[in-house]
Amino acid sequence: MRIATSNSVWIGIIILVIVTFAPGIWFLMHYKSYKVLQIGSYSLSVSYQTNPLMFYAGVFLISFGIISILWAGYIYNNIKNNLIEYFSICPICKSPNTLGKISFSMTIDDVQTVACQNCGAKWKIKTSGATGNIKTVKLVKPSDDGRGQEYLSKETDPEFWASLAREKE
Ligand SMILES: [Zn+2]
Repeated sequence: MRIATSNSVWIGIIILVIVTFAPGIWFLMHYKSYKVLQIGSYSLSVSYQTNPLMFYAGVFLISFGIISILWAGYIYNNIKNNLIEYFSICPICKSPNTLGKISFSMTIDDVQTVACQNCGAKWKIKTSGATGNIKTVKLVKPSDDGRGQEYLSKETDPEFWASLAREKE
């Protein structure tokens, strides 16, 4: 199986970085100041927050950004492992020449596609936007020679296709 990553994954991560890190860093820099205290011949630089509320908003945004990116990485890996687990060989023609494409839709669920490069069958796989676990699998195109026609457009759980893949021809 080959895994491809759709542009929506990168666009999602870039948007996340822009909306969390950019204002976060700006808040930290804008609402923090330094004062130099002079005590006799000693000088001491003390930092203080000109607006603690805005300063901590910045801390929150940056933390939120870091957690979200780690979480996106976890979801991505989970989707990838799930596709490999269930579609490393085509359930219809048993070829290992399958292509899984991972995308993020930024809604509750994400939709992944798996296409068999050997027989032409194609599936749409709904994964949880929170965990990357497979929710349902739907065959959207049977093989070029018509195999799998009877399962077309039916939403099934992934085990159904895994058990077909295990069956001997
Ligand atoms: Zn196939």
